[in-house]
Amino acid sequence: MAYSLSPLPYAYDSLEPYIDAETMHLHHDKHHQTYVNNSNAAVETLSTELQNLSAEELLKSLDKVPAEKLTAIKNNVGGHVNHTFFWELLKVGTELKGELKTAIEKDFGSVDAFKEKFAAAAAGRFGSGWAWLVVQDGKLAVVSTPNQDTPIMGDKFAGVHGTPILTLDVWEHAYYLKYQNRRVDYIGAFWQVVNWDKVAQLYAATK
Ligand code: MN
Repeated sequence: MAYSLSPLPYAYDSLEPYIDAETMHLHHDKHHQTYVNNSNAAVETLSTELQNLSAEELLKSLDKVPAEKLTAIKNNVGGHVNHTFFWELLKVGTELKGELKTAIEKDFGSVDAFKEKFAAAAAGRFGSGWAWLVVQDGKLAVVSTPNQDTPIMGDKFAGVHGTPILTLDVWEHAYYLKYQNRRVDYIGAFWQVVNWDKVAQLYAATK
């Protein structure tokens, strides 16, 4: 069961000027495609049982992956799953409201306090990685992971756990063309392209 790259669920330029079309082309068509290709090569070496899992199920079953294949699976299947998830979370013009907004205010004190915590996790991730808003043990929490690790891998493999409902890619390839070394500006622009409707839907699904 080979993985394939789905088209972006919107036009490449639809996140302008916050995330530019050239970055989206490079990020989706080249970087994400490479994760898909390398995932397929890595998964081919696994048992039939593991090959038959979905990419997400495989990342939740890393205990069953032979140690010498673990890094290739984490980096590539993680990259595929994380990017697929990330694309769905981007849209201009939605609003944080309802049950999700109430939960953010309850668990972080205020929306601004949440944004500060998330931005600090994204800015403070040394090197390449991701910032996440997760539902963790019944509460919202902000965490970050290195490389292509995701909270769905669990504590043993990612150092964190939880069900992701929002993420931000802070690899340089995600922002360097437009923002160069200014990761903080990219993080600031991210708030203009968060698809809060999707985040709310993911949050509701954890209930
Ligand atoms: Mn990326």
